Amino acid sequence: MRRTRIKPISDKKRAEFPARAECRRIVIERDKVCQFLLHVPEEWWARPIISALPVECTASQEVHEPARRANCDYLDPSECVLLCGRHHAWVGANIDLAREMGLYVDAVGRTPSKSRLLTDFDLS
Ligand SMILES: [Zn+2]
Repeated sequence: MRRTRIKPISDKKRAEFPARAECRRIVIERDKVCQFLLHVPEEWWARPIISALPVECTASQEVHEPARRANCDYLDPSECVLLCGRHHAWVGANIDLAREMGLYVDAVGRTPSKSRLLTDFDLS
């Protein structure tokens, strides 16, 4: 029996590399710097939650899709935002807060889960 190696990246995905690179280039040129702090809701700045947010950016530039890849066109710059590596990782680890910041968008029709992290803070 002849065995063929499974490709780690599909031909379809590989064919999208140039379009994704162009999307990245457009997003980096448009946003220029990490957009994380611009997404912090105004009211958070007066509350203890702000002390839990990483404020300083790292030098890396990462293109983030607020809607998960399965639910968005990750080749469309309008569905992407520029984040630094630290804030991109933070978004992935803090989905509930990221959702409130507009940096995480649930699939259409899915009920958002209740924020667990917010209950850790006195927001009154
Ligand atoms: Zn950042």
